[in-house]
Parts: sequence; C-alpha cells; structure tokens
Amino acid sequence: MPYGILYREQTSGSDGNQRRAKSPQSPSKLDGMKAIIIGGGIGGLSMALSLHQAGIEAKVFESIKTIGAAGAGINLQPNAVRELDEMGLGGALAATGVATQQWSCYNKHGQLIWSEPRGIAAGYRWPQYSIHRGQLLLLLLQATLERIGAANVLTGHHLASFEQDAHGVTAHFIDRASGKPVHSERADLLIGADGIHSAVRANYYPDEGPIHYSGEMQWRASVEIDSFLDGKTQIIVGNRNQRLVGYSMSQEALQRDRVLVNWICEIRMPETSRPDWDRKVSKEVFAGAFAGWRFPWLDVPALIDATAEIFEFPKCDRNPVDRWTFGRVTLLGDAAHPMLPTGSQAGSQAVVDARVLAQALITEPSVEAALKSYETQRLKPMAAITLKNRELGPELAMQIAEDRAPGGFNKVEEVISREEMAAITENYKRSAGFDSESVNTRPSYLQIR
Ligand SMILES: Cc1cc2nc3c(=O)[nH]c(=O)nc-3n(C[C@H](O)[C@H](O)[C@H](O)COP(=O)(O)OP(=O)(O)OC[C@H]3O[C@@H](n4cnc5c(N)ncnc54)[C@H](O)[C@@H]3O)c2cc1C
Repeated sequence: MPYGILYREQTSGSDGNQRRAKSPQSPSKLDGMKAIIIGGGIGGLSMALSLHQAGIEAKVFESIKTIGAAGAGINLQPNAVRELDEMGLGGALAATGVATQQWSCYNKHGQLIWSEPRGIAAGYRWPQYSIHRGQLLLLLLQATLERIGAANVLTGHHLASFEQDAHGVTAHFIDRASGKPVHSERADLLIGADGIHSAVRANYYPDEGPIHYSGEMQWRASVEIDSFLDGKTQIIVGNRNQRLVGYSMSQEALQRDRVLVNWICEIRMPETSRPDWDRKVSKEVFAGAFAGWRFPWLDVPALIDATAEIFEFPKCDRNPVDRWTFGRVTLLGDAAHPMLPTGSQAGSQAVVDARVLAQALITEPSVEAALKSYETQRLKPMAAITLKNRELGPELAMQIAEDRAPGGFNKVEEVISREEMAAITENYKRSAGFDSESVNTRPSYLQIR
C-alpha cells in the first residue's frame, strides 16, 4: 500500500483551522494579543499557523518580494511531520513529497554498509518526507494566506530596527533594495525567524561576527531520471572527506514512474573565500572527484552530467548562544540555532520550535514568561545538537567503515557490527528528538482543545 494512503488513515484529522476554544466567562490574556513574525521561511510560516491555532493574531514580515522557489530538497523528520499534520497539512505533504522508506549508507566503492527503514516503515505513526524546499514553502504559504489573510503576510518588508518597552514591541521595515522606510508595526511580542543571517539576533549579539564555515563545500541540484533504487530511499555514499547524498523528492514524478532526485556532492575544502549560499557554479568545479563513482545501482557521473543547474552551498553554522529571549522578543529556527544539515533535521527543528512557543504563550501567565519558558525547553537541546552536528551524526557508520576498510570489504559485519550501526543512528535520533518512541507517544506540543 502506498504510504500516502496509509498515512492519510493515520492523520490527526485536523484541518488546521481548529483553534483554541475561548471561554465566554473568563476573557483570556490571549484575546487581543498580537505577534510580529520576522521571516516567511519554514520557521516563520509554521509560527503563524501555530499562533492562528492558539487564537493569537500574527503578522508575518518577509524581506524578499516573493516567497518560495529557492533551495533544493529538504527532509522533514517524523517529529516535524507530526506537527505539520496537526496544522492540517498532512494531506498536502503526502500529495507533494516522497514518504522516505529507507535510509542507506554506502562506502565509496558502492558497497552497502547499513540500511534501515524510515518513517512509517520504521514504525512511526508519521512519515519522513523528502520534499522540494520551494514546494514546502508554497504549501505553508498557501495555508497561512488562507487562515490569517494576505493582509497579514507582508513581503518586501525587511526588518531594519525595533525597540521594546514595558507594554510591547515596535518594528520598523524598509524596502531592502532602495533602503526606503515602508512601514512600522506595534505588537505584544516579536519573533525573529529571520534565518542564519538574523537581524534580530544581531541586535542582541552585535559582535558575533560572520557565520562559521565548516570546511565542507556542497554542490546541490535536482534532476529527473528514470529510476533510482526503489524511488523512496535516501542514500549517503563515501566518507568524511567526500560524499554524495541523494533522495527522490517529488510525488508527482513518482506517479509518472520517474524520480526527481535531489543530489548533493560534498568535498572537504578547508578554505573558501565566499561563505554564502546559493551560488550557481559549473560542474567542472567538483565533478572530476566523482568520476569513478559508477555503481550498479547509480551512475553518479551520469547523474551530474544530466543536471542543468548546480548551486554551491558552503556548510555553515554559528556557535550556540546562551539566550534567545529578551523580554518580549525571541529567536526561532535558524535565527536561534543555525546548525549544519547533518542528520537531515535542521528545518524540522524550526517547526518544533513554533509549536513549543505557541503552547508556552497559551499556558504561561505573561508574554515574557512564555518566551522564557520556550527558551528553557528548546535552547539546551538545540545547542547540544548544533555541536553534535559538527561531528558525523548518523553518518559515523560510514566513516568507521572507511577507517577500518578503505579498500572495501567482503562482508560488512567483519568491519562494523549491526549492533554498532543501529546504536549510532538510534542515539542520534534520540538526541535530536525524533526517535520513534518519543514521536509516537508524547502528547501534542500544541494543545488546542
Ligand atoms: C535560500 C535558502 C535555500 C535553502 N535551501 C535549503 C535546502 O535546499 N535544503 C535544506 O535542507 N535547507 C535549506 N535551507 C535551510 C532551511 O530552509 C532552514 O534551515 C530551515 O528551514 C529553517 O528555517 P527558518 O525559517 O528558520 O529560516 P530560513 O528558511 O532561512 O527563513 C528565514 C526567512 O527570513 C527572511 N529574512 C531574513 N532577514 C530578514 C529581515 N531582516 N526582515 C524580514 N525577513 C528577513 C529570509 O528572506 C527568509 O525567507 C535554505 C535556506 C535558504 C534561506
């Protein structure tokens, strides 16, 4: 049975429009509460949808003029898929992304080191989805526009400055291209979901300096091909110095018996002059290093050759900070915890942040207490995973196999035991909060009933 169908039977049943019930007897502190969200990325839009469910008014301010399109594939782990399902987006995700069935790890000779089921196949009640980041943003945007209205999603509004007093926060916006003021907004709280180059964070950490380059360069692209394993497997091939990640990310392509592969080639390059994302480059820059990677199950040089556009992404993060919340202002998603994409779960954490913050606003006695409670719940685990992501995370098994058998192996069990491999991936999932037991059995982060 296709996962989409199995999954639809197991969704929360929420259409996302269900909102926290108001008591007619006792007016709530939330009635009339208003939030400013800076950034219309995955974190900011998830926040807007969660505040809407919590019965809190929200306005999203996005710097760029048109939300969507940029980026390639992204993986959503079941912890985030559960939250998106509870926002009423389960059906849209199933129709758009690919429910990942298997996660498989190979050495540079193409020999299988470890393969494990993912999502529903691994016993989760929610799938893992591989999806195009632009399509994910568009489905979040569509739901946000439908629920809070286009007047509350303002693009072309770049946060220039803000100030807070005892009663609220005032934010000032400019048009980024011209630098001209466009608008000022007053609200009870401000959430900085403005990404790795966050202006909100920079306001509190003016001396933080540039983002930290990990020494690993990625080239990312997507291309439609005939087949790729079973069409639902995420692969990682190679070792610490050179690897390939690939997965199928389009449900629409799968329905046509084709596979839209998101692929990422990565090479350790300690120096780079341009630690910024999204530069279009020629394949000549890196393809030579992968010339011998022709495996019976995937011809990597042919995959690269078939691709039209390739973008360079230096892998960057920032050191964890010890505060996200400053009175009525807090940070969320990449603004709070910019991390390396190890373990395919950085974007998922932004979704979880939004749910935890919305619940804190419902339960805590004041805005300040709510933002502090959110920070208490999320900062330490995110700081730990940010540092852990500088190591190899679940991909450690791949490096162990490389260290112990650089020329390949006859039987993988002679190089690394199944128990050792299973422990590596399970420990990582537990530390990132997406092991099946906690995803399946914890209460909802956002209690709207
Ligand atoms: C262009 C781009 C491409 C990406 N591609 C991938 C990918 O292919 N795969 C992957 O796994 N992850 C990708 N990511 C990262 C991933 O989307 C994030 O890690 C994750 O989703 C966290 O989301 P976020 O909402 O916290 O931050 P972001 O997704 O970075 O969103 C922040 C938003 O804030 C806006 N913003 C920034 N400054 C201001 C300001 N001063 N005022 C108003 N708005 C502002 C930005 O324009 C952006 O829309 C990409 C991010 C970006 C920005």
